[in-house]
Amino acid sequence: MKRLIVLLLIALTIVAFAQTFDRSKTVFVGGGMWSPPSNWSPFTPWNAVTGTIGLVYETLFLYDPLTGKFEPWLAESGSWISDSVFQIKLRNGLTWQDGKPLTIDDVLFTFEIAKKHTGINYSPIWNWLERIVKVDERTLNFVFSDPRYHEWGQNLISIAIIPKHVWEGKTQDEILQSANEKPLGSGSYFVETWDSDRNVFKKNPNWWGIKLLGLDPKPERVVVVRILSNNVAIGMLMKGELDWSNFFLPGIPTLRKAYGVHTWYESAPYMLPANTTGIFLNVNKYPLSIPEFRRAMAFAIDTSKIVDRAFERMVTASNPVGIMPIPGFIKYYPEEVAKQFGFKYDPAMANKILDELGFKDVNKDGFREDPNGRPFKLTIQCPYGWTDWMVSIQSIAEDLRKVGLNVEPIYPDASKYNDDLFAGRFDIILNNYPTGVSSTVWSYFNAVFYPAAAESEYSYSGNFGKYKNPEVTELLDQMNRTPLTNEEGIKKVVAKLSEILLKELPFIPLWYNGAWFQASDAVWKAWPSEKNPYAWPISWGGHWQLGGIKVLFGIKSE
Ligand code: CA
Repeated sequence: MKRLIVLLLIALTIVAFAQTFDRSKTVFVGGGMWSPPSNWSPFTPWNAVTGTIGLVYETLFLYDPLTGKFEPWLAESGSWISDSVFQIKLRNGLTWQDGKPLTIDDVLFTFEIAKKHTGINYSPIWNWLERIVKVDERTLNFVFSDPRYHEWGQNLISIAIIPKHVWEGKTQDEILQSANEKPLGSGSYFVETWDSDRNVFKKNPNWWGIKLLGLDPKPERVVVVRILSNNVAIGMLMKGELDWSNFFLPGIPTLRKAYGVHTWYESAPYMLPANTTGIFLNVNKYPLSIPEFRRAMAFAIDTSKIVDRAFERMVTASNPVGIMPIPGFIKYYPEEVAKQFGFKYDPAMANKILDELGFKDVNKDGFREDPNGRPFKLTIQCPYGWTDWMVSIQSIAEDLRKVGLNVEPIYPDASKYNDDLFAGRFDIILNNYPTGVSSTVWSYFNAVFYPAAAESEYSYSGNFGKYKNPEVTELLDQMNRTPLTNEEGIKKVVAKLSEILLKELPFIPLWYNGAWFQASDAVWKAWPSEKNPYAWPISWGGHWQLGGIKVLFGIKSE
């Protein structure tokens, strides 16, 4: 009964949408909004409605993971004119959504506001950015005291350019605490209305890109729908009520065959990779503190079983280093290092390593004791309700028990899981938050090794097991300071970091979680796919700048 009411309510909501908006001009999008809309601030994008940056606010550049290339956006061009000076030229003819011109002074203001107020998320840039020189009305020179080429690239695609005439004169508190309910950006869509279950973006008919880029946003409205269950998403997709879905949905072969649901690939894995998923190990807890012990664990885990059981082959097992198969990353894959120091599923090898370390089952209860004969037990955790991950850690625990390690899966609720993760309070934890697609493979190594984690009570950026190694810190800095054009130089550092990762394994990479994407052809057609790869098909926060925005220029309704 309860379920029926829920379905009825959902049906009514859909009817309400349909009545308000011309269906053939409206695209319904789901998978990137999990709480009611309450924030549209470009300064707190992690809390803001997805699309706040990308649809409303825009960045200087986009980055396309499908090609591995930066694409000028608000900037017409950008390049390093010396080792320490990055020059951007702004496009001519940019406008804000209120019709005022977007000028070089807005770009300058966007960066300088983070110098004036030191609590802005990109304020730390000023530790390595010395000054910005306005060369002429369209040109800025960013002069770096410490050029961090890789981090800078990430900033170019993530810092939203903001209008000076709206934000100047505001205090830091006003800036950081604002919900920014009437966001004014330069983008192709503005926020029209919202309700607890949706955010409606309306096309900006005067968007600069129509004239300057020849790109026309096809939908008059983009309705980002808050859908809290995958089952509801499946139902809406099957009925053609949800056009663009970025949920993990089971049963893809059936959805494709019986309902014509569109996916990136026509066969398994159906999905592009979005991040590297694996286990962080608490390296300060015995016996996880022993690198060889961690290595034995890596040999014991059968990822192919997880790929089949938990994901119906919609994900692929990772290579031992965990470098994703996207063009910008995989070109740095250190084949030889992986061959020499890598691991694969080989329980006999796991047993051999553990035997040699002196971990033996002395009392014959099926579990190994430590070399002093003491029993021990470890837990592995993921959030309750994340069913694919729950099945995954059951499988991992089962494999570890097969080689005599007493490992028990536990499922705290998501908020406790996050607390445990960020505070490093766990034995073994499944995670993928910091290891996503980006403009640089540096971000992957920074995520698994994030040096500040070892010194801080909380880490939000990775290295959750608090691994510490000064050599790694140096190598990460070295890569960050290697120009992106010096691919051989980057490759050498990647090889060294990979060797350390494989010998030390504070993180054991297991599979690439999918860029979940399913689309309905009921109203909108010409969705991107392997055969027509014009856009990264993801509407999650942070992914519009990876090309998600281009989906809206490419789809068609008839
Ligand atoms: Ca025993």
